[in-house]
Amino acid sequence: MKDVDVAVVGGGPVGLWVACELRLAGLETVVLERRSTPMAQSRALTMHGRTLELFAMRGVAERFLAEGRPIPTGHYAALDTRLDFSVFDTRYPFMLFLPQSRTEALIEDRARELGVEILRGHEVTGITGRERQDYRLSARHERGEASFHARAVIGADARRSIVRQTASIAFEGHDATLSIMMGDVCLRGLDGPPMRMVSNACGGVTIVPVGRDGATRVIVVDPERIHVPVGEPLTLGELASSARRILGEDIELCDPIWLSRFGDETRLATHYRSGRMFLAGDAAHLHLPAGGQGMNVGLQDAMNLGWKLAAVLNGTAPEALLDTYEKERRPVGAQLARNTEAQGALMTHFDPSHLALRAEMSELLRMPDVNRRLAGVLSGFDLQYPPVGLFTGEAGAGQRLPDRDVILADGTATSLYRLLTPGTWLHLSCEGGVQTTLPGWLPTEAVRFAVTRGTKLEVSGREAHAVLIRPDGYTAGAELARR
Ligand SMILES: Cc1cc2nc3c(=O)[nH]c(=O)nc-3n(C[C@H](O)[C@H](O)[C@H](O)COP(=O)(O)OP(=O)(O)OC[C@H]3O[C@@H](n4cnc5c(N)ncnc54)[C@H](O)[C@@H]3O)c2cc1C
Repeated sequence: MKDVDVAVVGGGPVGLWVACELRLAGLETVVLERRSTPMAQSRALTMHGRTLELFAMRGVAERFLAEGRPIPTGHYAALDTRLDFSVFDTRYPFMLFLPQSRTEALIEDRARELGVEILRGHEVTGITGRERQDYRLSARHERGEASFHARAVIGADARRSIVRQTASIAFEGHDATLSIMMGDVCLRGLDGPPMRMVSNACGGVTIVPVGRDGATRVIVVDPERIHVPVGEPLTLGELASSARRILGEDIELCDPIWLSRFGDETRLATHYRSGRMFLAGDAAHLHLPAGGQGMNVGLQDAMNLGWKLAAVLNGTAPEALLDTYEKERRPVGAQLARNTEAQGALMTHFDPSHLALRAEMSELLRMPDVNRRLAGVLSGFDLQYPPVGLFTGEAGAGQRLPDRDVILADGTATSLYRLLTPGTWLHLSCEGGVQTTLPGWLPTEAVRFAVTRGTKLEVSGREAHAVLIRPDGYTAGAELARR
């Protein structure tokens, strides 16, 4: 039996990232992953700007930027009017196209650098000790069985999550009502730009280049094939013939890397926590992949949970901090379910009334406020956390802060996000002696204090003399200037 602080079940992007956060805070963390080798296919291609900000707060954004391709606009329901990310105050006003296999590999590199133990080929088959919050996990592997003893368990084990089932947490929602075809293939004979989104009376086709190896992702919504069960194998011929008919172009598809169908199964866990068992990522929320959100939201779950669980297990925060994980993140999961259901309705019907609705929606998206609203939700830039009663100055709490160049009082040039890379709390003030109140439970030793020289701080559009920032980059309190 191996003793660890936290056992993370599932070594996808979410499990690996939460493990990084826990290890950064000094906890012994093991990731138990059923697959013996990483998944070669890449479900996600889109990494949003807020996720890049999260990586920048840990000093690793450049690794992803070096491999991905920035795309300045995004889509909502494949509508003609694109979402404009340039309106956001960020160093990353775009989304990054990067195959999920590379995202996972880069996160795994960081996890190994930090000393996370990653055990592949380990399928968790049982978890006991729920009543005592003292967990024992059994995992089946090639040579037999291994046991682990953990103070907390994180379920990043997606759809059939054993953690969610053991915790008796319901996964409410509905089964798939339709299926969409997709293939990562070699595409020949397409005239015009390599990226395309077409919707007409015959159906919908999206074409995007996948990575640097020349493969193209072809996604087809064909009303004549939409009721084929998700699990039924897809052939290259089926994909090609639907794509040709909808596009009206004699394209050729060959050398498939991956052919699959995905559906609109939509579910949300009724709770994200039971004792010291937690759910994150697809284990907590499932939905139609539209707008490139599941992995991004899952990584934000991981970022929110990691420091909170570490603080409680390290004895520097009260147990009540753990309740704020669900309070802050479940509404995001609910919004994700809602917006993907809405996108599904717009993307999968091609009768005249739905095409007219698409045209109207596309017109509305030309209005800057409407465009910003949806771009802010999908990118994660506009997310604010509601008051949860554990932070000071709740009016100035729960806000995202964009990165800023910062000159410290001793003349050191740095940036706000660079100051956050150790994963600790940050108290930043504009002059020595100015302070915002810390929550009573937060030990001063857990906070890094920095004084800036000439840097203007802003929280919720108001000038701040001092700001207290959580390890995940959201504000916990601020000393705001008088209006
Ligand atoms: C076609 C498609 C396109 C997508 N595009 C995007 C996109 O562009 N952007 C985006 O943000 N999201 C996208 N998504 C969603 C994204 O792929 C998922 O949201 C993401 O993979 C969730 O990460 P996760 O770590 O929670 O789960 P997963 O990546 O599914 O990882 C879960 C892991 O848990 C392991 N596991 C399960 N049970 C056990 C067990 N009992 N013991 C041990 N291990 C176990 C599994 O083997 C798996 O490796 C897309 C999805 C699809 C299907």
